Amino acid sequence: MTVPVLLPLALPAPYDYLVPEGSHAEPGTFVIVPLGPVEYLAAVWRRPAGAAPPKIARKKLREIVEILDDVPKLPEISLDFADWVANYTLAPAGMVLRMMMSARSAFQPPAPRYGVRLEGAPPERMTPARARVLEAAANGLVWVKSALAEAAGVSPGVIDGLVDAGTLIAEPLPDWHAMPLDTARARATLNDEQAEAARALVANMDDGFAVSLLDGVTGSGKTEVYFEAIAKVLDQGKQALVLMPEIALTSQFIARCEERFGAKPAEWHSGVSAPNRGRVWRAVAENKAKLVVGARSALFLPFPDLGLIVVDEEHDQGYKQEDRVAYQARDMAVVRAHLGAGRAGFGAAGAGSRAAGASSRARFGEDSADRSPRGIPVVLSSATPSIESLVNAGQGRYRHIRIGTRYKAASLPAIQAIDMRKSPPQRGHWLSPVLTDAVAETLGRGEQALLFLNRRGYAPVTLCRKCGFRFECPNCSAWLVEHRFRRRLECHHCGKFLPLPHECPSCGAEESLVACGPGIERIAEEVAEQFPEARRVLLSSDLTPSISDLRETLREIEDREVDIIIGTQLVAKGHHFPGLALVGVIDGDLGLAQGDPRAAERTFQLLSQVTGRAGRETIKGRGLIQTYMPEHPVIAALVSGDRDTFLDREIEARREAGMPPFGRLAAILVTAGDRGAAEGYAREVARAAPHAEKIQVLGPAEAPLSVIRGRYRFRLLVKAVREADLQAYLRLWLAQAPKARGDIRLTVDIDPYSFL
Ligand code: ADP
Ligand code: ZN
Repeated sequence: MTVPVLLPLALPAPYDYLVPEGSHAEPGTFVIVPLGPVEYLAAVWRRPAGAAPPKIARKKLREIVEILDDVPKLPEISLDFADWVANYTLAPAGMVLRMMMSARSAFQPPAPRYGVRLEGAPPERMTPARARVLEAAANGLVWVKSALAEAAGVSPGVIDGLVDAGTLIAEPLPDWHAMPLDTARARATLNDEQAEAARALVANMDDGFAVSLLDGVTGSGKTEVYFEAIAKVLDQGKQALVLMPEIALTSQFIARCEERFGAKPAEWHSGVSAPNRGRVWRAVAENKAKLVVGARSALFLPFPDLGLIVVDEEHDQGYKQEDRVAYQARDMAVVRAHLGAGRAGFGAAGAGSRAAGASSRARFGEDSADRSPRGIPVVLSSATPSIESLVNAGQGRYRHIRIGTRYKAASLPAIQAIDMRKSPPQRGHWLSPVLTDAVAETLGRGEQALLFLNRRGYAPVTLCRKCGFRFECPNCSAWLVEHRFRRRLECHHCGKFLPLPHECPSCGAEESLVACGPGIERIAEEVAEQFPEARRVLLSSDLTPSISDLRETLREIEDREVDIIIGTQLVAKGHHFPGLALVGVIDGDLGLAQGDPRAAERTFQLLSQVTGRAGRETIKGRGLIQTYMPEHPVIAALVSGDRDTFLDREIEARREAGMPPFGRLAAILVTAGDRGAAEGYAREVARAAPHAEKIQVLGPAEAPLSVIRGRYRFRLLVKAVREADLQAYLRLWLAQAPKARGDIRLTVDIDPYSFL
């Protein structure tokens, strides 16, 4: 017997392999197969219904080397989903499979984890630290070593000493996923508005596929509300997945889960250690992990019985993945939900045009008749929903559930613009006196202030005062950003860095280099100068690399051990800091300059989110936005608080321009080491575009970021009406276009979010 096997590589299709005599290899089973001289971990796939095995001479076929019977199979739904995503994004299915296997250790026998338990006699030498450990361990449970050390307030070495002394003994830890989530625990009492929202949400849990847009102002308690939906799904014995756009947001969610359900959810993101990724992957596949919180890639975990997907901060750009398989996790979550719970039948993939809604309406192949599972519910949660989701709600495809008031605070923060033309900062400074006064006032009341600038490093450009030389990345068309803490100049596109020089490399002048413009480190410096007494913390992804450090800092902020928080978008979103009264935005105009169709929407969302951190409990909140364009519609909408009028206008503008979600876009990026080669090929591709009514091909044009990593970049933009079958068009086009030669690369990004 032969079976098709999909390799986690960019191959066009599955390959056929012989199944060893007397063995079985069902679809979804993991196997080891040879390809050329290399052996790969791969998955048995399936043949489209009715397709015959390929006619290849038997002796040309190779045999499966090993069938991994003790690794859980991929559920059928995962196969459906991989095929669907591949079809939609035009990525090879093998690359989607690769995302589904991104936990190497899941494919090895699980290593038992050891903990410690109090068993032997007390040690001969007793110390206060040892006594605390004995006290903490007195309950006789098996403890994770680090947890016991923490509970007793001692270093892990003390625990080791007690193991050596025979007082504590090592014992295998019980499977932590067996920790049941208790949905019946005493929970928050919802207020009327929340209760109404929760009722509406929970009612949608019984309808199979249904998308609820949970649209509640910052601090309205959306998490408490969607916990009710999660509880319902857990009570049905099913799995639930909560997606978050950033790892930084998961810690508060985990703590709240523990409060609500008495146990931690499983975690899935790049900060999880490799062995734990393997454990989580298996626990999900074995249907033991019932609640998972994770980054966008968690969507590709092998859930066999998923009952609900929550996409928190659904508007966030962090859901869009650009490299390799370019997908929008929010849209793919809707697709995954439409495909069902996990017991879908075989057959050609095709979730139907209903699934992905606006921007990701896909229709390819046959729309297979609604298969028996009716799909599962999705909750999209945000205080500033994406235009895509709002349009879907407006057209009745999504159910719109609104919460208009904050739970703990009387009101939303009052937002004001600081007109930088009228109240400019001192020379060489970046904070307007209006903002520094407000910070001083806030600190005087014992409250916290947050200063936000979405730009890492000290200064975006460094130049020589003598000759005008600017430091540019040798590999990219971008300036090098000064990072003063790390004492170097860095490229934010390719990672290239050099030590900060003392003299100008061009004219040799000494002490002539000046930093131009502010980055977050420079703001921190100014704040230190102005408020030397205040307890300050600087949060930026490059300075807070480890997830545990970040969590510790977030806890300090929550516990009001910090007065001024200076940060990039790492602190802008989702967090709940009870003592935070004032949010100052250093440069409200920063995102508006970008020439992309979502610039206004994105800036509005980001600034609403960051100012929404203020005044979430009893303290009155305030947001101050420094701007040179106070009359800009985005700033005006933030100040007036009139979100709906602003969004209605944005929606109208998109409709008129035929932009998403009213039209569809695909970006084609051509890159090559040689500029002429890139441009020439991009032109050839453009010329090969088939004529189609209602599909326009724009370009090629040199990309705004014209060189990255030494590769020249040209862009084409495909613009289509909403009903167009964009994927079919692209497939036909690319099949007949000349093939890329040499080092030329062509990549397709369906529903692009980046136009750089
Ligand atoms: P959102 O996600 O809408 O910004 P959160 O869910 O983070 O809001 O809630 C804001 C704060 O209010 C949190 O500290 C949360 O625990 C608290 N909260 C919300 N609803 C309730 C409730 N019904 N009872 C008690 N506390 C609540
Ligand atoms: Zn570079």
